[in-house]
Amino acid sequence: MDALVSLCKRRGFLFQSSEIYGGVQGFWDYGPLGVELKRNLKDAWWQDMISGHNELTAPAGAPSPFEMVGLDCTILMHPQVWKCSGHYDLFHDYMVDCRESKKRYRHDQVRGRYVEYQDQKVFVTTLAEIEHEVDEIRRRALKFFKLRAKNADDITIGDESITLDKLDSHDDVLGPDAKSLGTLTEPREFNLMFKTTLGALGGADDTTFLRPETAQGIFVNFKNVLDSSRVRVPFGIGQVGKSFRNEITPRNFTFRSREFEQMEIEFFCHPDQSQEWYRYWRDRRMAWYTEMGLSGESLIMREHEQSELAHYSVGTADIEYAFPFLPEGEYGELEGIAHRGDFDLRSHMEGKLDPATNPMTVQLGEDGKPKYRGSGKDLTYRDDITNEKYVPHVIEPSAGADRGALAFLCEAYTEDEAPDEKGKLQTRTVMKLHPRLAPIKAAVFPLVKKDGMPEIAQEIYAGLKQHFNVFYDAKGAVGRRYRRQDEAGTPYCITVDGDSLTDKTVTIRDRDSLEQTRIKIDDVVDEIRSRILQ
Ligand code: ATP
Repeated sequence: MDALVSLCKRRGFLFQSSEIYGGVQGFWDYGPLGVELKRNLKDAWWQDMISGHNELTAPAGAPSPFEMVGLDCTILMHPQVWKCSGHYDLFHDYMVDCRESKKRYRHDQVRGRYVEYQDQKVFVTTLAEIEHEVDEIRRRALKFFKLRAKNADDITIGDESITLDKLDSHDDVLGPDAKSLGTLTEPREFNLMFKTTLGALGGADDTTFLRPETAQGIFVNFKNVLDSSRVRVPFGIGQVGKSFRNEITPRNFTFRSREFEQMEIEFFCHPDQSQEWYRYWRDRRMAWYTEMGLSGESLIMREHEQSELAHYSVGTADIEYAFPFLPEGEYGELEGIAHRGDFDLRSHMEGKLDPATNPMTVQLGEDGKPKYRGSGKDLTYRDDITNEKYVPHVIEPSAGADRGALAFLCEAYTEDEAPDEKGKLQTRTVMKLHPRLAPIKAAVFPLVKKDGMPEIAQEIYAGLKQHFNVFYDAKGAVGRRYRRQDEAGTPYCITVDGDSLTDKTVTIRDRDSLEQTRIKIDDVVDEIRSRILQ
């Protein structure tokens, strides 16, 4: 992971936001290569899910043909949206503070247990992120008890019983980061939405939030889309855009950021068909990641247990990737596919639903009136053929563009061996990105800067540039130029050499196989296009 992080900075994939001022946690900027990668990922998603979707025939595995359209909604919305969506009351994480170090943690980063010590409830903890270093933890745990439990006879950590004699005989020295092991406050709720104020007056009613997901913009526009585009159920609405969450502990590079992009679909279907559509989207989204280059071993689909499901959800599956910063055997979520029932449309229509008795009852406040009133607008759907009127059920495949980009970067990072100019094998770093995702599709080199080669190379470059992001490089040994492109993930390098002057051909080198073939200069654009799309 360290090698990848340093390559990302060195080659301009990712920079820390506001780095010259020391950076700000949980915010990342995409450099010249990174911006292309992320844009390619979003474009591939948009093309494959929305604009390239053929509504005339049912794709493999789909119960019927269906339509897909797009939206682009605002980041700030009416404050009531977040009350009726449930985010205002329920979009919480739990945080705990370490009393000694004053550090703050997300509850799931912390493992430990409360022990009674001198009439005090003390939370004894190790942090999950270092939990695999068992010996180190135990060492610190022993030290901790030595400091803290002088009069205790016997204390249990996990299955192990530790007695005072053991503690006294333990002579390890407290490590510099031992503060991370300490007593923690009880978990407290923390709403993850960033607050902001509309307009200059700033009263309570003017408080709103940066959207923590793009989905709600889709739900509140459901009727607008139905009326303006004449789509019929089943159909999906897709949106790509920024979301914001005030994560308690942003970490693991861009994996958990405070500002990130999502690629979300809300798919509206008849309640009786919703299970079939749920399975369709779950499998289709999994297949997409494999097609784009994530390998089978690192990618899993995990169906949530009943107890893990969000209050409105009938079923949820996560597509997860074995990110290299996670302990062996652990996976991080790339995308969640949730069956949301009719929770969202109904809440925006009638008012916030009661999670305890979902899906039908509106949550009441202390005065017995609906706690948050909905829009009162009719968000039901009438089938113009059967005349049936119903609130559609929703399947939501919700992906993160930044987590996706990070997974593709991790998967792509490879160190292998390639021959240098003299044929000697040298270690090379190569980013084996899928050609559709690669920031630069091809690089064009004149072998030497003379004999008319630069002129031909520049002409090829200009021709390609009209279609793809390509790169021209005439500096240094050609082997070194190849290496630079390998690190950037460029799948093809086109070299103009002495033969090009007479037979109007060039070599095209494949980044992964290192194979070089000669093609006609006139065919270069078509050749690159067909290789990218293959
Ligand atoms: P997690 O459990 O990891 O916090 P989540 O279940 O809250 O994720 P969702 O609300 O389902 O995530 O959001 C859908 C997708 O948005 C996630 O699968 C992920 O790819 C992306 N995402 C969510 N939170 C973040 C974040 N803080 N940073 C980057 N991407 C995120």
